[in-house]
Amino acid sequence: MSTAVYKNLIGGQWVTARSGKTFLNLNPARYEDTVGEFPTSNAEDVADAVAAAKAAYATWRLTPAPKRAEILYRTGEILTQRKEQYARDMTREMGKVLSETRGDVQEAIDTAYYMAGEGRRLFGQTTPSELPNKFAMSVRMPVGVCGMIAPWNFPMAIPSWKLFPALVCGNTCLIKPAEDTPLSTYNLVQTLMDAGLPPGVVNIVAGFGPEAGAPIVTHPDVRAISFTGSSEVGRIVGQAAAANFKPCSLEMGGKNAMIVMEDANLDLALDGAVWGAFGTTGQRCTATSRIILHKKIAAEFTERLVARARALRVGDGLDEQFEMGPQINQQQIDTSTHYVEIATREGARLLCGGERLIEGAHAKGTFFAPTVFSGVTPSMRIAQEEVFGPVVSLIECGSLEEAIGQANGIQYGLSTALYSRDVNRAFAAIRDLEAGITYINAPTIGAEVHLPFGGVKQTGNGHREGGTGAIDFYSSWKSVYVDYSDKLQRAQID
Ligand code: ADP
Repeated sequence: MSTAVYKNLIGGQWVTARSGKTFLNLNPARYEDTVGEFPTSNAEDVADAVAAAKAAYATWRLTPAPKRAEILYRTGEILTQRKEQYARDMTREMGKVLSETRGDVQEAIDTAYYMAGEGRRLFGQTTPSELPNKFAMSVRMPVGVCGMIAPWNFPMAIPSWKLFPALVCGNTCLIKPAEDTPLSTYNLVQTLMDAGLPPGVVNIVAGFGPEAGAPIVTHPDVRAISFTGSSEVGRIVGQAAAANFKPCSLEMGGKNAMIVMEDANLDLALDGAVWGAFGTTGQRCTATSRIILHKKIAAEFTERLVARARALRVGDGLDEQFEMGPQINQQQIDTSTHYVEIATREGARLLCGGERLIEGAHAKGTFFAPTVFSGVTPSMRIAQEEVFGPVVSLIECGSLEEAIGQANGIQYGLSTALYSRDVNRAFAAIRDLEAGITYINAPTIGAEVHLPFGGVKQTGNGHREGGTGAIDFYSSWKSVYVDYSDKLQRAQID
């Protein structure tokens, strides 16, 4: 079968990269399956895409927001029709199991409808003026051309979190998908075009970070940057944006803790732990990577968690008998392997997994066994650093206060969870856990699109995706004063 060839989307035209170079998108469950060939873009392609987005901005910003929103409604409808096909494409390029990729497409559908609703809101404020015969209000203006750099773990949901609020606010966009999962961004943008999005309003430049991502950040006509990815790259992107005073939303790592108290429903907590730690093969920024167990239930919980981890069926996500897919690539396998070595050296006890799966069909992909470490202390590197793989560390505590201290004792602050039946403990945890998201009796994963998503400390730089936070990022406040007194009135002076 010949390999499907994809091009950049610039000004509504599909064009090859100026360099003529391409790269292959491979299926992480089966190396011999090539998903497609994509352009390896550089600064010249980025400049073309920015020029197209700038030209399209002149008319898109003047299109009434409810009309812009109608395109998002249609996008949600078409995505619903294509959900199964797009989920299959996504599993093929990213690896996570079909039930999860269906969820990823559903998240884009939810975002489309939610942001379409904003087309008839985009509320500003009216407020009294301090002067007579004067009217005061604030309105949301678009920002201009927005540059977006996406990761591979939510290949359609995350681009939708970035594109849809930006579009309803009247911005035009340039998006660089992750090099491991470009097809899902293509599917998303193709749907927008089929829903009637005018040419140039969204442009795709595929390629690698330093060549195709960095020039987006530094281009003078790109007015705002939205990045989701690793903390290392986020630091580079954030510094480059700051040098030009560009608004920049950074969404980065996590080291998310689930606390299980002795009064918890242990069956429920176990289900949450298995889903939180091994869902998406642990490759979520909100993945449960630390479980803090009250010592009264630690032994029982540990034994049962290990049994569940061992029983997980790992394989090609397109085959619905499997519950956990591969890691995205060899580099992620190397990272998981490296952290298993570190944890073992630090004195943690490896209870299951800890290695790449290489027997039978597993040999053809990048599979890693569900891994559990016990005897982890809060200062160990395995308890501090993000692994982004199916590796979970168990830590013991003697009280909720101690558990919260352990949960907070890291550089990140994305998601947290508490399992307890005690409402007083629940509210104390909600108040004291340093994180952008806290779940009570639910795992650390599972965000809904109409709530703010993001973290504190080194997880981000204070912006939020989802909810109205996204509208805040993609619009710029303008204060408007209308003086109908027919004379010069001076604020603070007269
Ligand atoms: P991950 O570990 O999720 O791949 P990365 O931070 O490496 O996280 O990548 C996230 C996104 O950032 C990808 O689209 C990648 O191509 C892009 N990227 C990587 N390096 C840079 C860079 N120097 N400048 C801009 N974007 C980059």
